[in-house]
Amino acid sequence: MAKKLRCDRCGFELTDKDSIDLAYAGMSAWQTSARARGIKPRGVLPCKNYIRCGGEIVKLKWFPPHSKDDYLTGIKYIIKSILSLPVFILIFSWLIILIIIIIRLIN
Ligand SMILES: [Zn+2]
Repeated sequence: MAKKLRCDRCGFELTDKDSIDLAYAGMSAWQTSARARGIKPRGVLPCKNYIRCGGEIVKLKWFPPHSKDDYLTGIKYIIKSILSLPVFILIFSWLIILIIIIIRLIN
């Protein structure tokens, strides 16, 4: 799932990888300066519309969903995890059976 950053007030989004990387690179510097000014930082960076919206760019969690798209991604994520578990158990149990057979053959 693609990493996304969004303003918690006006909804401005950072979606391209370069600006997201840049945001993370500047995160600690900004958070330090915010704390020095007595502001508790909520997110990664202040919004580029900060003067108007006073928001901060925060990391989006896949749950609770923020839009219909995120909602679908969340559902797909859950379905994928549910589907991958039985496959994993199946492969794992076959491996154990195989190991038991090999041990019995050796003895
Ligand atoms: Zn904003």
